[in-house]
Amino acid sequence: MNYFVSLADDVISLLFPRVCHACGEHLVRNENLICTGCLVEIPRTGFESVRDNFTEKLFWGRCRLERAASFAWYVKGGRMSRLIFRLKYDGYTEVGFELGRIYGHNLASSGFTEGIDCLVPVPLHKRKERKRGFNQSLVIAEGISSSTGIPVSTGYLVRKTSTATQTVRSRIERWRNVEGIFTVERADEIAGSHVLLVDDVITTGSTIDACCSALMAATDIKVSVVSLAVAPGHS
Ligand SMILES: [Zn+2]
Repeated sequence: MNYFVSLADDVISLLFPRVCHACGEHLVRNENLICTGCLVEIPRTGFESVRDNFTEKLFWGRCRLERAASFAWYVKGGRMSRLIFRLKYDGYTEVGFELGRIYGHNLASSGFTEGIDCLVPVPLHKRKERKRGFNQSLVIAEGISSSTGIPVSTGYLVRKTSTATQTVRSRIERWRNVEGIFTVERADEIAGSHVLLVDDVITTGSTIDACCSALMAATDIKVSVVSLAVAPGHS
């Protein structure tokens, strides 16, 4: 690197220090958004290479999925939950894109994405997306797309109703609450494809279950799922 460019970079980083979104420590020159220490410490599941893994088992007896995997365990107060908070509530979409990009490399190199035709982010209700300014699952899907080359398809899977009060409901109520809230438009266009649903965090799995049921309206469709994180247990 040109000496003056490098010097200018150093001055800029002194004035505007770049910090890790997971731990708040200063980043060094080759680090981007998340420090190396945090990337190593994120509790990755490795599920992309494991059959009958925890995420897949969540859906046994429910919707018929080809494959399912999650990048990391969701630990309250942990690095991944901090990163997801930065994405969803502080609006740092670049954090979601970067995690998706990294995960995409894992998914591709393990063979998990073989045969996948398109990435379908779990849609937010329009009102919620307007309020937040973006759909976090779409941002993650775009990151995965950047490292796998698999296109993102939006507009087929649509959310009909808002579930704004979902967090205060019990698991059973939540389950009932998400039933029938998604629908598929232009089902004939995705007939016969293998879609990979993309979500930020899987807890009960009821949202994915509802998405999957809706997608089954398309003839001969195959559905797989990935999420950035999965909660190890839920109430
Ligand atoms: Zn860090």
